[in-house]
Amino acid sequence: MAIKAGVVSGEDYNELVNACKEGGYALAAVNCVGTDSVNAVMEVAARNKSDVIIQFSNGGAQFYAGQGMEDSFKAKVLGAVAAAHHVHLLAEHYGICVVLHTDHANRKLVPWVDALIDHSETYFKAHGRPLYTSHMLDLSEEDIDVNLSECARVLKRMAPLNMSLEIELGITGGEEDGVGHEIDEDADNSHLYTQPEDVLKAFELLTPIGHFSVAASFGNVHGVYKPGNVQLRPEILRNSQALVTTTHDTAKNPLNLVFHGGSGSEKAKISEALTYGVFKMNIDTDTQFAFSEAVGKYVETHAKAFKYQIDPEDGTPYKKHYDPRKWLRAGEEGFMARLDEAFADLGSVGKSLAQ
Ligand SMILES: [Zn+2]
Repeated sequence: MAIKAGVVSGEDYNELVNACKEGGYALAAVNCVGTDSVNAVMEVAARNKSDVIIQFSNGGAQFYAGQGMEDSFKAKVLGAVAAAHHVHLLAEHYGICVVLHTDHANRKLVPWVDALIDHSETYFKAHGRPLYTSHMLDLSEEDIDVNLSECARVLKRMAPLNMSLEIELGITGGEEDGVGHEIDEDADNSHLYTQPEDVLKAFELLTPIGHFSVAASFGNVHGVYKPGNVQLRPEILRNSQALVTTTHDTAKNPLNLVFHGGSGSEKAKISEALTYGVFKMNIDTDTQFAFSEAVGKYVETHAKAFKYQIDPEDGTPYKKHYDPRKWLRAGEEGFMARLDEAFADLGSVGKSLAQ
């Protein structure tokens, strides 16, 4: 089983997802904000011989186009399009398979996703493939039937373009780029857990339309919090798979499951989740910190170069230390070291299907 290196979609994507589930490993889905993080993801994936998912939140896409662009909606659309073109051009040269994806879109951001699908339609006419492999809709705060009917509408647009949809059932705690749900550590947090009956409903409605995946909540949270009363319960994933399997007599793990809020999770719970058909784990908070921590260390080591172009005492020029490529590269190195660890946790090292 081999796939041409580069951005995957349609049947190739399906094959990649199935290889993960059958092989009991998952791909890291890394939130990126610019060429630094995008290139670092491809570099570290290549050196680990692992396929990978590059994703953009609406804020990340906006930053890609430029935080100063006046029309922020336009920036969110154009930034995501620019990023996709960048990855389409470069990914095959890194020799790995890359899934291109956008992260949480709540009701307010549905027009962002629709605008990106418009761009994929144009791209598909010219190149026979979409710009993005998949998009996510997160309508988990709405009524389940409203959530699913909107997902069905969007998937109907995407399926003819060989695109896949990620949906969210149950609420991932914490906040990701303005979309999310604050955790009350003293409250009854049962709403943070996906109901297998809802997953079955989604399976029945969406399977005839096209390819989709489910971000199920099993106590996972965005960000890293002090240990609270939200417990990771991966058995919810197992129960959801089992309900679909017994109701529809499918093969094992019929659902494509996504693990949000992977940062700071216990390694044993990650491993357990992988056995229940999780093929994607999002990572953002930990890689943000890894990038910044490495830049911080660099600045500490070269403190004078961030104050003076030339040393006021001995005249040493500091150009080679304050050159932004130096400290951005230091950030990329830290970011990549954290991803080495993520790839190892997810078991994707050496598993690239790229040829
Ligand atoms: Zn998330």
